[in-house]
Amino acid sequence: MDARDGLLFEDVPVHQIAQTIGTPCWITGAGTLRRRAADLKAAFTARKLPMSFHFAMKAQDHQATLRILKDCGYGVDIVSGGEMTRALTAGIAPEAIVFSGVGKSDDELRAAITARIGQINVESAEELYRLAALADAMPNRDNFRMRVTLRVNPDVDAQTHDKITTGRADDKFGIAYDQALALYAEAQGFSSLRVIGLAVHLGSQMLAAEPFRKGYQRLADMVRTLRGQGHPVETVDCGGGLGISYRDEIAPAPDMLAGVIAETLGDLDVALGLEPGRWLAAPTGLFVTTIIETKAGNPERGTPDFLIVDGGMNDLARPSMYDSWHGILPISPTATHSPLKPWHVVGPVCESSDVFARNRPLPANLKRGDMLAFLDAGAYGSVMSSTYNSRPFAAQAMVDNGRWAPTRKRQTLEELIAAETLPDWL
Ligand SMILES: *Cc1c(COP(=O)(O)O)cnc(C)c1O
Repeated sequence: MDARDGLLFEDVPVHQIAQTIGTPCWITGAGTLRRRAADLKAAFTARKLPMSFHFAMKAQDHQATLRILKDCGYGVDIVSGGEMTRALTAGIAPEAIVFSGVGKSDDELRAAITARIGQINVESAEELYRLAALADAMPNRDNFRMRVTLRVNPDVDAQTHDKITTGRADDKFGIAYDQALALYAEAQGFSSLRVIGLAVHLGSQMLAAEPFRKGYQRLADMVRTLRGQGHPVETVDCGGGLGISYRDEIAPAPDMLAGVIAETLGDLDVALGLEPGRWLAAPTGLFVTTIIETKAGNPERGTPDFLIVDGGMNDLARPSMYDSWHGILPISPTATHSPLKPWHVVGPVCESSDVFARNRPLPANLKRGDMLAFLDAGAYGSVMSSTYNSRPFAAQAMVDNGRWAPTRKRQTLEELIAAETLPDWL
């Protein structure tokens, strides 16, 4: 906070950006991102772990974000052909791209082979056979063998929100532990693929060490078993999932993860990979809104007054989708002069789940026209936006230690409608 300028983000007054590009808008902190990218790497370097880093770009896929992380020595973990094109467009080297995801289409797999990306994490026996057949059928492969890992489902509960756990037997992700061993052996015979190791991703927003330890321990056991059977294992991809503190959770430092990986996989002499998404990106993002209306609640029934803001669940979906909590800060300095009172903070979308916060203590003097910033919105924020209720995609900007620039124009209504065509019988 600055006495006159209100809330600052990397030394830039947030109101200045919001007044220039309008609200709702997203602001990404480049300096914050660089710092986190370096801190994460340092935790693994300190333990001398041979780790390569692939940012899970589904968390935040803006070209500027990818460019910054590329300059920090990061590759990307992609989950679609669209993300591959985005990554290549941002200048990420093909070898630095890892392709994960449970449903890769023929076209996506062919495009990955054509681009000669670094690695495909295969999620089922069916996908492995299909990938091998597609690669075999491709002309001009010049003996290129796609590097493949098998993504194992270790049947570990990540102890996180039900909708973001991925490593239980009943989840759709990965290959069952027992099946993976047989498949690994079989796949060594495929001439178009080079099966180089194992991958795992347990879930997201994980705060405890134990599920990581269990999952990685199972992978370490598998590596030893496979080697015992005479199969080469060069790499283990540890996935992502490291959580952050959105509210008052005790969030682990990256050193916790580095420690667990050192303990479970550190002496196996394998190249290690990490696919962090949320941990890197979430704290780098603000979502900024303007209060459209303050609406009286019903004190007799215990309903506080409402703050209706101009951003909705179509922009920031996490609260409606995962019941997630985001810090909310007023950006005007006058808000700090006021006592607090509880408010319901809601969006304008015609859904009762379009609620950002209930009974949130915020300044009692908030009024129409004041702006509110939602914190930690940099991961799974703008990327999850939709245009529900014909609400255009919001504008974006980037701050970088004192300077700022717009990074995406607000979608116009013309653009929003332009792709629609009328049947000729209308
Ligand atoms: C989503 C995802 C990640 C990133 O998860 P975070 O919780 O954001 O770190 C990494 N790997 C895979 C395969 C994923 O699907």
